[in-house]
Amino acid sequence: MQKFLLKNVDNPRSTDIREYRKSGGYKGLKKAVEMEPGKIVDEVKKSGLRGRGGAGFPTGMKWDFASRDPNFPKYLICNADEGEPGTFKDRHILERDPHLLIEGMVIAARALKVGRGYIYLRAEYPAAEVILDKAIDQAYKEGLLGENITGKGFKFDLSVHRGAGAYICGEETALIESIEGKRGQPRLKPPFPVNVGAWGKPTIVNNVETFSNLPLIIEIGPEEYSKIGNPDCPGPKLYCVSGFVEKPGVYELPMGTILRDIIYKHCGGIKGGGKLKAVIPGGISTPILPPDKIDCQMDFVNLPKAGSMLGSGAVMVFDESVCLVSVCMRAMQFFEHESCGKCTPCREGTGWLSNILERIENGMGRNGDIELLLEVASNISGKTFCPLGDGAAGMLLSFIKYFSDEFDHHIENRKCMVN
Ligand code: SF4
Repeated sequence: MQKFLLKNVDNPRSTDIREYRKSGGYKGLKKAVEMEPGKIVDEVKKSGLRGRGGAGFPTGMKWDFASRDPNFPKYLICNADEGEPGTFKDRHILERDPHLLIEGMVIAARALKVGRGYIYLRAEYPAAEVILDKAIDQAYKEGLLGENITGKGFKFDLSVHRGAGAYICGEETALIESIEGKRGQPRLKPPFPVNVGAWGKPTIVNNVETFSNLPLIIEIGPEEYSKIGNPDCPGPKLYCVSGFVEKPGVYELPMGTILRDIIYKHCGGIKGGGKLKAVIPGGISTPILPPDKIDCQMDFVNLPKAGSMLGSGAVMVFDESVCLVSVCMRAMQFFEHESCGKCTPCREGTGWLSNILERIENGMGRNGDIELLLEVASNISGKTFCPLGDGAAGMLLSFIKYFSDEFDHHIENRKCMVN
């Protein structure tokens, strides 16, 4: 497939604005500044672009709500807090093609009449901060940021705001709290950030990959764009694949590529000729799938039909040598650690689930522990303030649904069935 989002990343000088321009960069912006802001919003709506951060909300619809809000100033935030375990696709753009993101954000600023933007960058990406700062500086010098952009009389200032290392700040309202200088905890919704966001003003939060699709949409037009990938969920998609495959990495493929093809065709199959045991298709918060469920399209519409979710598009592959009780325990320890503590079911529940999983994994499981896990998980699902709790419980339930024999074996034999 022709590359759009990753077309520059193999160029060793890809972060330089001159190289970006040589490959056609900032052409989308050039076209966008000649368009009325409302027309840009319409084009994005027509393109069918859905947010690439995990929820898959239609970007054009979000923009429509924001553009109708009469309150000013408005803020634009790029969510670059890529903290979902297994996810490293946005990092590719941040570190290797920062001008693609900047161009996308300036197009969005033009469309939504926003004068101030932030890139909220995860703490663990220090190299990206240096690269982004340099790229932003270049863009200012070339009149692509600041006052009177490209001589068309609109203004947009952009800077990087680095987080402090909290997973929950990937949730947009917690991110906004953090950017305001407060403790990063989710806010009650509604009101939604598009109406009441940073400092109480309309705030549009989109992910790195979402912004990076905008130059392409404007350049080729929504009709051509919507021919890429699945018509219900169009566009190019970055899938990052890790674990037991021959060729892990970030792959740009049409949205809706079959999961089996990603593993066997693009990533070279299971490492060392091993046998597939399970796949987590969209980052650790998404339900795990057994091998007989991998003939599904990887998009926001079809993956739920197979029992999971696209999430961040982070595919984690496990072969038969892996103890899934151990994987489940480590994932739950992560959720326990990252729970912000605001609501009781998540704060207490993830801790209890971790404790039970640790004793099962360590050969001290008790009869009734599986039932206890299910009971605690049922007291988290649907009862938490933000999706972290649901993600933790849903992940656990899927492990037990498909791999309960491994949990039983740990409890009955006080040891793992694979080690
Ligand atoms: Fe915080 Fe967890 Fe409640 Fe979300 S679900 S608000 S992370 S305690």
